[in-house]
Amino acid sequence: MKCRECGEQHPAKRIYACQECFGPLDVIYDYNDISLTKDVLRGRRQNLWRYFELLPINDRENMIDLGAGYTTLQKCEELGKRIGLKNLFIKNDTTNPTYSFKDRPASVAVSKALEFHTKAVGCASTGNLAAATAAHAAKAGLPCYVFIPEGIEPNKIAQTAAYGARIIKVKGTYDETNRLAYQAAELYNIDIVNINLRPYYVEGSKTLAYEVCEQLDWHTPDRVIIPTASGAMLCAIEKGFREFKELGLTDEVDTKLVCAQAEGCAPIVKSFNTSSRQVQPIENPETVAHSLAIGDPGDGIYVLEKLRRSKGTAEAATDKEITDAIELLAQTEGIFAEPAGGVSVAVLKKLAERGEIDPNEKVVCYVTGNGLKSPEALPSQITESIPIEPRIQSFAYVIGR
Ligand SMILES: *Cc1c(COP(=O)(O)O)cnc(C)c1O
Ligand SMILES: [Zn+2]
Repeated sequence: MKCRECGEQHPAKRIYACQECFGPLDVIYDYNDISLTKDVLRGRRQNLWRYFELLPINDRENMIDLGAGYTTLQKCEELGKRIGLKNLFIKNDTTNPTYSFKDRPASVAVSKALEFHTKAVGCASTGNLAAATAAHAAKAGLPCYVFIPEGIEPNKIAQTAAYGARIIKVKGTYDETNRLAYQAAELYNIDIVNINLRPYYVEGSKTLAYEVCEQLDWHTPDRVIIPTASGAMLCAIEKGFREFKELGLTDEVDTKLVCAQAEGCAPIVKSFNTSSRQVQPIENPETVAHSLAIGDPGDGIYVLEKLRRSKGTAEAATDKEITDAIELLAQTEGIFAEPAGGVSVAVLKKLAERGEIDPNEKVVCYVTGNGLKSPEALPSQITESIPIEPRIQSFAYVIGR
């Protein structure tokens, strides 16, 4: 592992911060030793473990495989027409085993926990990581402690409980919940996947970039729209594109990164717009997109740097824009997203309509969570329906004929 701040290298042990400067650690690989070719990949199973050599697990025996990854890259003619884009794709991660992209990092982290002979795992979650960690822990036979802030959608809690995890609901924000999980990890020796195992955990999300390259016939897209909370997924996607280039699996990487946040919790967008290099935390996030409600994003400063380097941008969407975008995506492409997916589609629409995206650009918009996880986000006038008498006259009345 290599420190992101001072560059010091450390063996790939059960550590998550640099022992010299406390900076975050990244897993590094010897790319000369990795012989992944297009032909080898074509012959492999269609889930994230097809990239085993680029994931930080040593022994295949430890792989916890629920089949996460290799989701559809959907060409969006209809949505594209509505917003004026000719080469638009949605990376549809609503179809993962627990219905969000979080199965990718959770799968890798729980596998690493087995490799470290961990006795218990857990996570601090804004909603989706809870179910993803709980499901993979269940398969691994490990006890699981899930820390969530109040206000998380009931479906996400029910799903997590079904996998047998202990749910610790905290009176406070995600950032307060995260601090409690941190202390619990230290005192009770629980491996919190997105804290203690974070360097390994984030590696799972690189597969969001690898798959898109493969699905675009070994080319990188011109632009990607990424819904952002802590910024870990955005950083992992950027690393994924670079690694595919390093291995000669794709051409020059010239992909503009777009960070999409919810207006009620947009600390990275605010910094970007004021050209600041620091991220000012938001005390009390308020947004329908609960899974993006992280007021103090751990990877915020690294996201800013990557946005600048890629000539990308950052943009926010209001709650109304988010729910409108959920409906637009469902009604044009048949994909039902949770609000985080609404955030990326809403930001995509804004940039396209403002003319900031060339109509011919190859754009990939990441839709990271399933709408069934948060049906209450939709306005009641579209979800409510009043029953009618079982008579054809009542039907005629309802459709106005
Ligand atoms: C967690 C989450 C994100 C954001 O991930 P970060 O890595 O924290 O930026 C986006 N979409 C969904 C659905 C999520 O659950
Ligand atoms: Zn360091």
